[in-house]
Amino acid sequence: MHDLTEGVARFQRDVHPAKAELFARLASDHRPSTLFIGCSDARVVPELITQSEPGELFVIRTAGNLVPAYTPGADAVTAGIEYAVAVLGVTQIVVCGHSACGAMTALAEGHDLSGAPAIADWLRHADASRAHSVAANGTTEVDALVRGNVRAQLTSLATHPSVARALASGTLTLRGWVYDIPTGRIEELVTSGRPAPALV
Ligand SMILES: [Zn+2]
Repeated sequence: MHDLTEGVARFQRDVHPAKAELFARLASDHRPSTLFIGCSDARVVPELITQSEPGELFVIRTAGNLVPAYTPGADAVTAGIEYAVAVLGVTQIVVCGHSACGAMTALAEGHDLSGAPAIADWLRHADASRAHSVAANGTTEVDALVRGNVRAQLTSLATHPSVARALASGTLTLRGWVYDIPTGRIEELVTSGRPAPALV
């Protein structure tokens, strides 16, 4: 198991001093340009796969990179989206699914989640993803569901008032990605509702 204490010591000894200027600026400056919404999966590390520096990504991670459609009443995901868009003024939102997603696998394969009721409830936010996958592909096979899920979450995002406002004023781009763990490839599925060419 990775030793967190040793990791912290190495960060303070080697990494932080090497970026001292950056951290000095970030002490009073928080202006990320991107809201990155990814899965909580430990293998999907937003800053690593986009080679971003501290301060560049505002990150929300949820199981299955699910974004509940907007409903009145505070919740952590909605508050995070509103803060990133309305307060920080990010200019793009990336929703990033990934290969071998545990949440999507559980749905695709119909795992028994009766012993994990909170997970079962949370995954109801993927009901539209399942419906989309079946309608578009005739299947809930995992890869198809991962892709359908990214598209469905972009639709959910647009129900959030802060996102709807920014989209209407042309200040925000929505992007849908799928990250492939074994190859490192990122496939861009959608950019602001339009099909996009694949990234390398
Ligand atoms: Zn996942």
